[in-house]
Amino acid sequence: MGKVYLTGAGPGDIDLLTVKALRVVQQADVIIYDRLANPDILLYAKEGCEFIYVGKEDSHHTLPQEEINEIIYQSALKHEHVVRLKGGDPLVFGRGGEEGIYLRERGIAFEFIPGVTSAIAVPEYAGIPVTHRGVTVSFRVVTGHESKKAQSQIPWENYKTDDTIVFLMGLHNLDKITQKLIEVGKPKEHPIAVISKGTTPEEKTVVGTLEDIYEKAKDLPTPALIVVGEVVKLREQLNWFEQ
Ligand code: SAH
Repeated sequence: MGKVYLTGAGPGDIDLLTVKALRVVQQADVIIYDRLANPDILLYAKEGCEFIYVGKEDSHHTLPQEEINEIIYQSALKHEHVVRLKGGDPLVFGRGGEEGIYLRERGIAFEFIPGVTSAIAVPEYAGIPVTHRGVTVSFRVVTGHESKKAQSQIPWENYKTDDTIVFLMGLHNLDKITQKLIEVGKPKEHPIAVISKGTTPEEKTVVGTLEDIYEKAKDLPTPALIVVGEVVKLREQLNWFEQ
């Protein structure tokens, strides 16, 4: 029986892959990878390494999670070094926890290899720090996907007083998210940014207010994330990557 490395691939820029992730990729007998993991990482695999694409992006899962779990498990029965490569960090809306539990229940050893999460790195490439002395004391990372459900579990009321809020998987709900934030008491002029394809050569950031961002940003390509808060204004001084 092999070992599974539940590995973060970073947010896009291949240079943001960790040394540890690179090492397991180089040793891998099989790599099971997501749509959000930069496929150029696979170029570092050894000859004969098998690649299994289980691409899923936002809500458009090409494979149900249960099937992915089973593919990882079956791979571990056949191979010594199994790498499960996921965009960003495996445990930030990455379902790495579910995969770990599935493997543990079947007696398969695993390791988590943290990755640079898009939630922090993508705003950073856009010149938006998630915290900034004198501006914020906290930041929150929220799923923007769940709010589609009639019975949202998101405690919107609590966000009224939040500093920075980063929504992942939220572009398709951008209008609902901004409406909700206004409903709970954020000013209509509150700063917000949408960042598309962050940390890649196609990165694009659109800045606006809760009131006008939807019209400005709704057609941006995915993956994209949303940053809400006064920190967005710091981009005027800190934008570096898109220049
Ligand atoms: N585990 C990942 C997040 C998975 S959820 C991580 O830690 O980064 C997928 C969401 O992440 C996307 O819908 C998008 O909101 C965000 N995302 C991932 N990569 C991104 C990128 N390069 N640019 C913008 N958003 C990104």
